[in-house]
Amino acid sequence: MNIPKTSFPRIVIIGGGFAGISIAKKLKNKEVQVVLLDKHNYHNFQPLLYQVSTGGLEPDSIAYPIRKVLKGYTNFFFRLANVEEIKTEENIIVSNIGTLEYDYLVIATGSETNYYGNREIEINSMAMKTIPESLNLRSLILENFEQALLTDKYHERDALMNFVIVGAGPTGVELAGALAEIKKGILPKDYPDLDTRRVQIHLIQSGERILKEMSEKASQKAEDFLESLGVQIWKNTRVTGYDGKTVTTDTEATFETATLVWAAGVKGVVIKGLNAKDLLLGGSRLSVNQYSQVIGYDNIFAVGDVACMQSTETPKGHPMMAQPAMQQGRNLGENLVRLLEDKPLKPFVYKDKGSMATIGRNKAVVDMNNIRFQGVFAWFVWMFVHLFFLIGFRNRMVVFVNWVYNYIRFDREARLIIRPFNRNYSAFKD
Ligand SMILES: Cc1cc2nc3c(=O)[nH]c(=O)nc-3n(C[C@H](O)[C@H](O)[C@H](O)COP(=O)(O)OP(=O)(O)OC[C@H]3O[C@@H](n4cnc5c(N)ncnc54)[C@H](O)[C@@H]3O)c2cc1C
Repeated sequence: MNIPKTSFPRIVIIGGGFAGISIAKKLKNKEVQVVLLDKHNYHNFQPLLYQVSTGGLEPDSIAYPIRKVLKGYTNFFFRLANVEEIKTEENIIVSNIGTLEYDYLVIATGSETNYYGNREIEINSMAMKTIPESLNLRSLILENFEQALLTDKYHERDALMNFVIVGAGPTGVELAGALAEIKKGILPKDYPDLDTRRVQIHLIQSGERILKEMSEKASQKAEDFLESLGVQIWKNTRVTGYDGKTVTTDTEATFETATLVWAAGVKGVVIKGLNAKDLLLGGSRLSVNQYSQVIGYDNIFAVGDVACMQSTETPKGHPMMAQPAMQQGRNLGENLVRLLEDKPLKPFVYKDKGSMATIGRNKAVVDMNNIRFQGVFAWFVWMFVHLFFLIGFRNRMVVFVNWVYNYIRFDREARLIIRPFNRNYSAFKD
């Protein structure tokens, strides 16, 4: 990897997401050598991916070059690398660009879509976890309408204009709301020769309520908002299969659709080499102690989505969200400095700042500890918080200008098929 050996201990961080970047910032110009490895050269602001998928934002505005985040750090190296294995006996990581020794290793690899072993759904559905996946979805949505124009068969056209979203967490809810707004405000103008009133958006949830991690009030209000936008919500319904044409469920409901978006779960990205069999909690997250140390290893740490810090208050670990990832990253960054200075480590204490979701224009739900509110004010709070946490002044400006423009013009101008998604439409032809 061509990284010089110095007298400073080397800390290798795998993953430049919310957690990895937060650690690196805490180690700025300290007496350590920091090597950050990521398979992408940018940090991806995942909470706004759904806006890329629905043409509200360009992908560049929610991504930021990792090198730029960390410019001016004298003790810092970045390498574009996919880490494939950790050799814990030798303190080495193996990647597609070579191997690297570490003194301390931080695993901040985040999470990936969880299909719970259903291969058919994995092959045929659309995920929305990365920027390329969001662009694929954006292309597919638009391509579906172009295809719908070409057929005179009702059932084919309907299947192309049906959207099924599985999982009614914030991602599913936000995507459903955005699609409903497109149906109302954009499709009738873009496709005057299609009966876009027939577009259907189905949101399917296995549990009793949507946004189940939020308060009941927020769930109910979000449901009301979605229904007012015409989204059809299916609760207590578990999707069992999708062959690329028909969605089957554990009830009698089935759906004909060209687009199934799978937003029903994530699992930690665990790299081969750790004694994972004993370590994995909930099937997919690395068990760590209150200092983010991976159980059984002195010099390996894990933070963010991939880490599960169990305690009596958090029997399933912390939520797989940006705040815990950033807070764990900051805590570990400080602890690594303390470790090297022979000072006692500080246990991680999570400060829950609440959660929120937007359903569309002027519609959002916010739970902040005991303060809960919904509607227009919540929507402004949602926008402010997301702008605040976006990395980069330019990105904040671009997103802000886009939102103002979209608000005033009822528009989403990034509805472009830049990189076509090659879906096989033959299943929809007789
Ligand atoms: C669509 C969507 C919407 C979301 N909305 C919200 C929201 O509204 N609020 C909220 O709090 N959270 C939200 N989340 C969750 C939030 O984004 C994650 O909890 C957060 O990103 C976790 O941070 P992390 O640092 O653990 O992982 P990530 O931010 O995912 O970063 C992991 C990094 O590791 C890199 N990586 C992975 N494997 C390797 C490897 N083998 N080699 C090299 N690099 C590797 C990846 O490229 C990535 O850059 C959302 C997530 C998604 C997908």
